[in-house]
Order: sequence, then structure tokens, then C-alpha cells
Amino acid sequence: MPLRDIPVTNNVIQSIVIFSFNTPPIYTFFYLHHPERLVLDLNQELNLPYRLPLNFNGHNLIKCIRTSTPISENSIRIVFELINKSQINIKIKKISSYYNLIVTIRTALPPLSNFQKQQTLLKLNTNANSNTKNLNSNINNKEKKISTKTVIVAIDAGHGGPDPGAIGPHGIKEKNVTIAIAHKLKVMLNRDPMFKPVLTRNGDEFISVMGRSEVARQHEACVLVSIHADAAPNIHARGASVLVLSNKRANSEIANLLEKNDKQAKLLGGAGNLLASGKTNPYFSQVILDLQFGNAQRVGYDIAVNILKHLREISILHKKNPEHASLGVLRSPDIPSLLVEIGFISNALEEKLLGSCAYQEKIAKALHLGLRSYCMEYDKLS
Ligand SMILES: [Zn+2]
Repeated sequence: MPLRDIPVTNNVIQSIVIFSFNTPPIYTFFYLHHPERLVLDLNQELNLPYRLPLNFNGHNLIKCIRTSTPISENSIRIVFELINKSQINIKIKKISSYYNLIVTIRTALPPLSNFQKQQTLLKLNTNANSNTKNLNSNINNKEKKISTKTVIVAIDAGHGGPDPGAIGPHGIKEKNVTIAIAHKLKVMLNRDPMFKPVLTRNGDEFISVMGRSEVARQHEACVLVSIHADAAPNIHARGASVLVLSNKRANSEIANLLEKNDKQAKLLGGAGNLLASGKTNPYFSQVILDLQFGNAQRVGYDIAVNILKHLREISILHKKNPEHASLGVLRSPDIPSLLVEIGFISNALEEKLLGSCAYQEKIAKALHLGLRSYCMEYDKLS
């Protein structure tokens, strides 16, 4: 009895997966938390469907459908990895000569129709108070990627004050390299009418990770670029890399924010104030947070790709594609954020380069050009 095609409808609120069989299927299932999983055991002799694992993007309730070790020789174990705590409903429906096993997975929040979603967003968007100004710019502008007028860039020089960051074999401190590049980048962006730079720290001072994204938010930054230097026990490790927010981190931030209404306000500005007012219900919060995170992630990734293109011209790359990371500074739901590792300060050769004014200038220029080419690309697309 081969397992037939597996139709899947998957979205943020509800997902339905249908398995079709020629005879009535025998099955058991159970649910696991942290991470959320549905485990389905089909007690049939089956050919494994060639399409597993199926991976979905982070906006869908089902993250992945995969197989796992079966409980017996004649069974198959299918695991649904879920992004949220969910309710499960499984039933068998006979359709002509087939038996459909219909697996319905709903987020623990009650379902929300598309119409309701649209109405809510419409209401939020047309609500003529100061809150919605921010919401509009958060959702609408960011849906259109970065605004084409002045792009406010928060430049975050890693470490500072009592925190030197990594220290090279010749004593060059990461905090001094990052602030030097930040200042150079600021000068370049100031000269470019497309951009308005703001620094999270101006001198040799300590700012908390939260404080850094807070500065970016206060200035209504469109993007946050955090500058760091890498270090590794392997003294030969070298090259630049760019990190962006991971799906896992994004999902856990969404979950945290949904539990803490007051925090949403601080983190999301206008949208958050509205969410925290208690006038919206939980699924609206979820929809908005998903939109904001998803979009910030996409934009962050695209900018990272552009920056890597320009870094490649001046440095070898430690990683040629943007890497996903779960770092505090990359946590903002509403600000596309990326962290640039400009090279390995633990590598004596790169340490020397990173300490030189000319090379710092080149790095700053690569960051500037990367940001610029992202914005130009967007202009071309619009
Ligand atoms: Zn660092």
C-alpha cells in the first residue's frame, strides 16, 4: 500500500496534511513540547514517500515534515516540527476508493480568517492617531523593503568600555577597530544623500545588547549594522562573514513578545503601543509580529548578500553566504539587523590589516557600497 501524494496546506494559523491510502489506515499519534512536535505512527507497510523531508519557511505553522525511526518494521513514523504550541485533530475520510487521513494542526490560538486578518490590518492602518504612523511605516514601508528616501542606518560598533571584545596576538582590541570603522562608515554615509547614519556608541563606552537595538529604534533606523571582528583558537582562521537573525531566534522572540504585551510596546513602537493597549486580540499580535519579523529577516538577509558582494572584493570570505545566528543584537522584530565579522583579529596577518587606517577605510566602503547596492536594487525593482 504505497503512501500516495501528500497534499499540504500550511500557514501561520492552521495547517492540513492529507495522507491517502488504498485501505483504512491504522495510526497512533502523540505530541511533544520544546520543540513542539506531532509524532504520527502509521502502522502500515509503506514505501517512504520520496519527498520527505519537506521544509517550510518560518511563517508556516509546520516547519518541517520528516520521518524518524519507526516503532516496528511494518510502520512508518512521521514527525511534524511545529513553530507553535498546537492543537491536533486527526480523522479518516473515505473519498471514492481512497481513505484520506486528514491531519489538522491549529495554533493554540483560535484560528483567524484571512478576512479578519485583512480587516484588522486595515483598521490598524487607517486608525488616524500617532501610533499608526509608526505602524504604517513599520509594516507598509518595510513590506516594500527600505524606503527610497533617506535610509537611516544604525551603525553599531561592537563592544566598548570595559569590554574590549577579542584581542589580537599583537594586542589590537576589537572594540577599537569596530569604533574606527563605525566612524569612517558614518562619514561616508553622511556624504551620501541616500543615507542618514546614527551610531549606537560614539566613543569608548559600554552599551548593553538591548541598549544597542534601543538606540536604533529611537532613531527610527531602517537597518542596524553591527560591526565585529572574529576570533578563533585556530590562528590561521581568516576572512569576513555576515550574520543575520536565525528563524529559531525569530520564532522564540515572537513567542516571548506574545507573552509580554508591555514589552511589545517598547519593541515595536507604534504597532506595539496598539498591541499593548489590549484593544487587539492575540492573533492580531501574532500576525503583526510574524509580518515584522519575517520582513526584517528577508531585508536583513538581502542586505547581507549585497555587503558580502563588496567585502569579497577586499577580503577573502570566511563564509560566502550570510549565516543565521541567534545573537542578542540581531533580535529586533522591526529593524532588519545584520552583524558583520570583518575578519579574524586572532589571525596575526588580519589583525595587522584590521588595525590599519587604510584597511578600515576599505571595510567601511564595502559596507557603504553594500547598503547602497541593496537600496539601488530595490529602486530598480519598484
Ligand atoms: Zn565581537
